[in-house]
Amino acid sequence: MSGMALHYDLHSHSTASDGTLSPSGLVQAAHAAGVNVLALTDHDTTDGLNEAGAVATRLGLQLVAGVEISVSWQPLTVHILGLNINPGCAALQDGLEGLSEFRDWRAEEIARRLEKSGIGGAYEGACALTRGRIVSRTHFAHYLVAAGHAVSVREVFKRFLVHGKPGFVPGQWASLEDALAWIRRAGGLAVIAHPARYRLTATRLRRLIGEFKELGGAGIEVVSGSHTRDNIDTMAMYARREALLASRGSDYHGPENPWVRLGELAELPAGCRPIWDSEVWPLH
Ligand code: AMP
Ligand code: MN
Ligand code: MN
Ligand code: MN
Repeated sequence: MSGMALHYDLHSHSTASDGTLSPSGLVQAAHAAGVNVLALTDHDTTDGLNEAGAVATRLGLQLVAGVEISVSWQPLTVHILGLNINPGCAALQDGLEGLSEFRDWRAEEIARRLEKSGIGGAYEGACALTRGRIVSRTHFAHYLVAAGHAVSVREVFKRFLVHGKPGFVPGQWASLEDALAWIRRAGGLAVIAHPARYRLTATRLRRLIGEFKELGGAGIEVVSGSHTRDNIDTMAMYARREALLASRGSDYHGPENPWVRLGELAELPAGCRPIWDSEVWPLH
């Protein structure tokens, strides 16, 4: 494969979590968009990987087995990607099962809280929109839009599902330590997803990176579908300064989000070490 520049997109979602394309549909869409190497990184589940892998093999696209783990870090929820994981790892699957159970309880709790502010049927409504094991706030958002409580998913989050709003339930996700242990036990590389999204001060971001590196973390997502040009430059600076590998992924959730497209991403800035060029990347 050397010589030819491959097109990498190392962050995407399917109906196994809160994406709207099936794993097969996602791989087909990535292939059509010119992506050569795609990581399927569903929230807290690896259930889509088998189906995605079968289609990827047929199309000649390299599928990177991934997962995006929800982590509670101080008052925040942060997302840690595991790339090139072995989904058969029992330690990883036990960990993810615990997160799914919390999600199930949280879904009921979100619905109880929404009920108190006059919105009924949200649990059934959200569950009816899931296609896999994972119930996400995104499913609630789609249901609330369909039921006429808001005009967009963005508006639902703002009015109902974030801190201080009626349907907000604080997360009790994995610890950073657990998430990294599961990823490493599964033979994967840990990457801090969309680091600019947490709006951390420089001091706190350096602390997150410091703890992450101490636990064996490998990289940060410098280029993300949700990063501005400024965010990319800032995160490139952190990647270089903290000697972290740089990753690049759209965080694609489906065609309904026209501002995030599969594979349509900026290049990694000069001076960053792409995670796929490093000696730890097994799929050159
Ligand atoms: P959960 O993991 O169930 O708490 O849901 C988090 C997911 O909700 C993220 O992965 C995003 O896909 C989506 N999300 C979070 N915040 C927003 C927002 N403000 N607007 C739209 N989608 C959001
Ligand atoms: Mn999501
Ligand atoms: Mn995320
Ligand atoms: Mn994501």
